[in-house]
Amino acid sequence: MKTPAGTECPHFYGDYHRGRDTEECRLLQSSIPPQPYTTDLCEKCPVPGILRANACTDMRLNGHVTRSIFDLFQRRVYVTARCEKTSQRVDKPEIGCGECHPLPPIFEVKK
Ligand code: SF4
Repeated sequence: MKTPAGTECPHFYGDYHRGRDTEECRLLQSSIPPQPYTTDLCEKCPVPGILRANACTDMRLNGHVTRSIFDLFQRRVYVTARCEKTSQRVDKPEIGCGECHPLPPIFEVKK
């Protein structure tokens, strides 16, 4: 579903049928602990970009709402990722953990 920021995000839920005005982020809702959602968070959220870059079905995202140290009034979504297949933390969710889709040797940097 399209977020209020105009990006496509599978975690966004909006119900505007017959005058309803319900907007939810299912990712923040299911995070541990659940995070409060406001529509302005979608504007700079990295999740749509991560999911466009990496469609791995084994990767689980967890979102936290934080404030930047440079702008304490600006709330942002900070995302951590975990691979359910390898049970390890994924440092770069856009790329993945490398278990299922290793880079070809031509892209490896020799030391
Ligand atoms: S905050 Fe991020 S994850 Fe949640 S609905 Fe908006 S874009 Fe999607």
